[in-house]
Amino acid sequence: MLKQATATAVLVVLALHAPAGRNSGLANASRTPDPQQSDPAGILASIDARQDQYSAIAKQIWDYAELGFQEEKSAALLERTLADAGFTVQTGVAGMPTAFTAGYGSGKPVIAVLGEFDALPGLSQAAGDPARHPVKAGAPGHACGHNLLGTASAAAAIAVKEWMIQSKQPGTVRYYGTPAEEGGGGKVYMVREGLLKDVDAVVTWHPGDRNTANPASSLATIAAYFRFYGVASHAAASPDKGRSALDALEAMDYMVNMMREHVPQETRIHYIIRKGGVASNIVPDYAEGEYQARHPDMRVLQGIWDRIVKASEGAAMGTGTRVEHETLMSYWNVLPNETLAAVAHRSLTRAGAVEYTPDEQAFADKLRGTLVEPATPMGAQKEIAPIRVGLVGSASTDVGDISWNVPVAQITTATFVPGVPAHSWQATACTGMSIGFKGMQVAAKAMALTVADLLRAPATIARAKAEFLEKRGGPDFKYSSLVGNRPPPFDYRKGQ
Ligand SMILES: [Zn+2]
Repeated sequence: MLKQATATAVLVVLALHAPAGRNSGLANASRTPDPQQSDPAGILASIDARQDQYSAIAKQIWDYAELGFQEEKSAALLERTLADAGFTVQTGVAGMPTAFTAGYGSGKPVIAVLGEFDALPGLSQAAGDPARHPVKAGAPGHACGHNLLGTASAAAAIAVKEWMIQSKQPGTVRYYGTPAEEGGGGKVYMVREGLLKDVDAVVTWHPGDRNTANPASSLATIAAYFRFYGVASHAAASPDKGRSALDALEAMDYMVNMMREHVPQETRIHYIIRKGGVASNIVPDYAEGEYQARHPDMRVLQGIWDRIVKASEGAAMGTGTRVEHETLMSYWNVLPNETLAAVAHRSLTRAGAVEYTPDEQAFADKLRGTLVEPATPMGAQKEIAPIRVGLVGSASTDVGDISWNVPVAQITTATFVPGVPAHSWQATACTGMSIGFKGMQVAAKAMALTVADLLRAPATIARAKAEFLEKRGGPDFKYSSLVGNRPPPFDYRKGQ
């Protein structure tokens, strides 16, 4: 959703925890085993051999284009794919019908890969068409490439399983099918349920317009509905008998807008008015706003959020109305892990990049013509970007909540034509065609190599954990989520 547009598209350097974009040299400093010894040829060949099958699965999920918590067909297809490959599948985990896990192997270490498969409302677009032509006007589309995300992670898990059998490698590889990344936060509920408790490291990826494996962070975010209850009355004949819920919501908006001057500069606050009354000659007895706030550090954001809630209470008090709020989602910022990033970057380098055919290049050139000042240069798809630390993505992801519970490695590959932002129709055009499928193959290979390296290298996992514990803030750190005990917001995309 918000996301990774998340870390995908445009990385904004906010220079928070580390000097922006300095080269870390981590790849050289790493002492993980030589990937040559991880039988990478077998892993890469196994993914290549199934390229057509994986492209067909990704295209099928692209066609389904199911919204968050409605991904029944998409989840079932991935579950079937993993079950057919010999994984033990558990469906409907953490009380969510479209959440699942699929495991192979036993014992430690346990390495997890994450899959997403939800689409975005309104971004339907014909695959491979460089002009705006929705498959169905107003329908959902895979503009964040989660059709590729879920498929590549399954491909990686399957390749790792085959390699484990061949090399008699002990340990566990486990796929997490995580629904509703775009605002529903499936991962938050899987963490709450304790489903990642025995996991030693997580490897994940996200579609993008370049190839990177940076230990990058993201923005923490919290969103809620604020509901104001007033008293209806004739707006001309008896306005004194009414108490306007819309006045209350506008007073809240006014206060929060003044607050913008007095919050840390990296803060983002967005809102919409969802309901503001039914007719102008009736004093509105109900008004509803949706607020979302972001900041690079969840612990700072929680303080800002408390002030937003106080503004709603002050607005209700001043207007003689009543307010309540429902927290819709809460995503922590990603806690990056440089140890794992070094392994992922080396794997990505071995996996290779994306080469276009002349036809794909012609499509890419046309598509770029529809973009407003594309930020990534053409050709980025062919490069593996050097590893950089200290970057903060300009959006948010529920991977963040996992990253404060388990060390996480993140990879981005060029599934979109360079310059194409996530959450655009241009992205949907790329994720249903060969360009997206090629980037997906690179991601599957890079993830599989990373997981294989970690399974073989307990010392690397131990270093990643030590880094994780130190960055998290020592033994006193306690993870919590503002979603509290609420059930997952199953209806948040209803009617879209
Ligand atoms: Zn996404």
